[in-house]
Amino acid sequence: ETTFPKPSRTRLIAVANQKGGVGKTTTAVNVSAALAQSGANVLVIDMDPQGNASTALGIPHASGEPSVYDVLEGRLGIQEVKRQCPDFPSLEVVPASIDLSGAELEIADMPNRNNLLKVALNNYLASSDKHYDYVIIDCPPSLGLLVINAMCAVTEMMIPIQAEYYALEGLGQLINTIGLIQQNFNSDLIVSTMLVTMFDKRTLLSREVYEEVKNHYPNIVLDATIPRTVKISEAPSFGRSVIAYDPHGMGAVSYAEAALEIAQRSEAILHIIDDRKHEG
Ligand code: ADP
Ligand code: MG
Repeated sequence: ETTFPKPSRTRLIAVANQKGGVGKTTTAVNVSAALAQSGANVLVIDMDPQGNASTALGIPHASGEPSVYDVLEGRLGIQEVKRQCPDFPSLEVVPASIDLSGAELEIADMPNRNNLLKVALNNYLASSDKHYDYVIIDCPPSLGLLVINAMCAVTEMMIPIQAEYYALEGLGQLINTIGLIQQNFNSDLIVSTMLVTMFDKRTLLSREVYEEVKNHYPNIVLDATIPRTVKISEAPSFGRSVIAYDPHGMGAVSYAEAALEIAQRSEAILHIIDDRKHEG
């Protein structure tokens, strides 16, 4: 297995798109698994009450299990709820359970409601003996308090874009929302990465979507694209990433290529984040 370059400090990345079914969870899970396989220490935080990322990484997440819900509400620390992914020793997961679906209402009146995840994550990273190369947060589709918590806890947004006719619809709204978070809550935040998923290189439509996204966001879109494959869609039912389930298939290879590109762009992206900081 190839070793990827490691970032000079922890990269904090939230995977978001308010559209459902565009490949957020699949991307969060498989990019994380590919990075972990390459030797990086990775922490995945599942912020979706559906718990699909937890499922796909083989982590139990029944209602009542210690989870990110307890972290947000201050009952437990990340140290106490994280679990190791059975397939990768350097991949850990903060699971989500359906209990999280009540959290948005429960935290709505808290004065620090936007920064609950940020505080918990910073406390954990500062106190942990382990150094993480990547923290990757899987977001739910709606743009509610859970996603705002994710956006406030990270410095980078990764947006998966499904190669389909309406791909760019809603993207402007998402970028605007990220801009509002930037202005009001988290000036360090940038959109660092877009990844075109469910790409079919045989169709003109897929290639047109890629070109259109690339024209709008030339420095953000990865060269790698993710094809639609059966193995990608069936891996979660075995509680596994496609990286572990079908390591030599097109799905795993494509996600490994995307992860390598993400790793190779680390210093350039960390530099952009630093520059923004200095500009104030
Ligand atoms: P989201 O988290 O944005 O809702 P998911 O990652 O759960 O999206 O993907 C939605 C559905 O599409 C899932 O059933 C998933 O297994 C499937 N899927 C995602 N990416 C691919 C792909 N590249 N090839 C085949 N199926 C995919
Ligand atoms: Mg999802």
